[in-house]
Amino acid sequence: MKKDDCIFCKIAAGEIGSHTLYEDEDFRVIFDLNPGTKGHALVIPKEHADGIFDMDDETASKVLVVAKKVATAMKEAFNADGFNIIQNNGECAGQSVKHFHMHLFPRYEGDKALGLWKPGQTTDEELQVLEDKVKEILN
Ligand code: 5GP
Ligand code: ZN
Repeated sequence: MKKDDCIFCKIAAGEIGSHTLYEDEDFRVIFDLNPGTKGHALVIPKEHADGIFDMDDETASKVLVVAKKVATAMKEAFNADGFNIIQNNGECAGQSVKHFHMHLFPRYEGDKALGLWKPGQTTDEELQVLEDKVKEILN
């Protein structure tokens, strides 16, 4: 289903033009409008979901296969030294467009394009509490 006021629904459907690196029945892969590095691209499902939590399992199961295929071509095409695959959910996690998308983010030696988390510390007891909480929901 498409969402009327969603820019990524319109881009994925081809109603708004884009440089399309790859397209199939379920996805369109385009360049990011404001690239963090050379070649930064987005995998956009044609089916609207706000993020990972409301995405259907079928689309979810296909998205990494598409990401792998296009990222492999991009890495070779752009001579990238490394690659981040990033997927943000929720404002506090950096999501600005509320239509699921996966960033294909080529990295180049010394680019300093991303700051990742500061490694923290934990305890076995703390991990046990967290593990039990998740398992209670999953089981
Ligand atoms: P988010 O922050 O939600 O994970 O990522 C959204 C990304 O979409 C941003 O990197 C932003 O530059 C990109 N973006 C936003 N609007 C457009 C658009 O209209 N066209 C394209 N190609 N990229 C867009
Ligand atoms: Zn949408």
